[in-house]
Amino acid sequence: MNLKFKNRIAIFNTIAVALTTALVFIVIYSVVHKTAYSHLDDDILIEKEDVFSNLNTTNNSIIINKMPEWDEAEHREVEVNPTFLQIVDAEGVVIFHSANMMKDQILYNPKIETESFFDSELNKQPIRLGQFPIKNDKNEVIGQLTIAIPQQESINILNNLILVLLIAFPIVLFIQFLASWFAASKSIEPVNELIKTASGIGDSNIGTRLSLPVRHDEIYVLTQTINDLLARIETSIVQQKQFTSNASHEIRTPLAAIRGTLEVLIRKQRDPEFYENKISEIISQVDRIDTLLEQLLQLARLESGVAISKCENVELEALIASLTHKWKESATTKNITIQIDIPKSYTMVGDRLFMEIILNNLVNNALKYGNQNGIVSIQIDANTLSINDNGMGISIAQLPYIFNRFYRTDESRSSTIKGNGLGLSIVKKLCELQNIVIDVESKEGEFTKFTLHFTGKKS
Ligand code: ADP
Repeated sequence: MNLKFKNRIAIFNTIAVALTTALVFIVIYSVVHKTAYSHLDDDILIEKEDVFSNLNTTNNSIIINKMPEWDEAEHREVEVNPTFLQIVDAEGVVIFHSANMMKDQILYNPKIETESFFDSELNKQPIRLGQFPIKNDKNEVIGQLTIAIPQQESINILNNLILVLLIAFPIVLFIQFLASWFAASKSIEPVNELIKTASGIGDSNIGTRLSLPVRHDEIYVLTQTINDLLARIETSIVQQKQFTSNASHEIRTPLAAIRGTLEVLIRKQRDPEFYENKISEIISQVDRIDTLLEQLLQLARLESGVAISKCENVELEALIASLTHKWKESATTKNITIQIDIPKSYTMVGDRLFMEIILNNLVNNALKYGNQNGIVSIQIDANTLSINDNGMGISIAQLPYIFNRFYRTDESRSSTIKGNGLGLSIVKKLCELQNIVIDVESKEGEFTKFTLHFTGKKS
């Protein structure tokens, strides 16, 4: 059943109140019932005391003394709250009955030896009956005194009570349902308001935020959570737009350079050396586009979640040794010494290919941004691997942004050092996939140190 929230709350509340009210009503009825009957039994006991005080016994005979009170109306007339008395001897012969019984006889149990109370009927009228054995001096039962009081009055009271409770029950439930429904409608109102505003937010007005309620309740927290979510979506949309514009800019720049060079070439006939120079310029621009596309593809794969990190034991010393030939050319050109200090047996748990890309990017950066005749060191310390260079460094202001896509510091942008600002964002993503924490320390003009903290098993 697809019930609305407010109806569901109202129904749950009503069921709970129905159960509670039913329980309370049952308790009320039981208490009144017990009180009414114990009241009858008390009356019978008083009457019994009265009768016994006027009885004498000798051996097997019961002697009834004069009991003037028996002439009272309650014993003579049937109408006024009558009390019926009956005394039988051991043979079951009625030796006395009150006048109001006329020819009727109260049924009794001759075998009873202790006082007992029953519900019974006299002349088709419900009665409460107390039976008291009459005993002689030897404690032998020589007769039975039976006292009966009509129950009609108690039955009427109980019937009236049932009627009142049965009428009150649905009324209580109905009022409770209305109250719960109203309260639930009022409570759900701000949520409906949220739904209305939130459903009106799209790409075009993603900057819109839901207004926070005055009270600091769950709705407040919900609104705040939705606002935080909207802020994250907005950031991601902005980043996406920024990414697209940066990517097109990065592609357009080398394309424009290629076009310019080609235009120069076709303007007039040149000597072969000029052609060679210009063509190698074009090749280097094509390489630039190629590298950019390669990195964009890598990022797209990482972002889409298809790339899954393997969990293998990677011997870092062997891995780095296999990569050094790639770094040799730039190191030699700038006369940079690469110092590697990694124990042969050192193993980290991660993905070999991912580690290769990370190390390549970080060491290439250290070589690119390192000083002429400088030193690039690769070191292991406990469960960290650091790559250090004594190059241009990064200012504190720019440090937080270097892992952003397409971000390049002002210094590297204005220099002739080639790059597109994608390498570190790829490194960051690959580290996340392997649960490696990466951080960077740097001082402008002095050094830059990238540290990888391996959180997985290592030996
Ligand atoms: P790029 O292709 O520009 O090198 P990266 O994403 O690898 O892109 O690096 C982003 C920026 O971070 C670089 O442009 C540079 O400004 C800065 N950077 C990275 N590594 C170093 C380093 N070792 N020394 C100084 N600056 C660095």
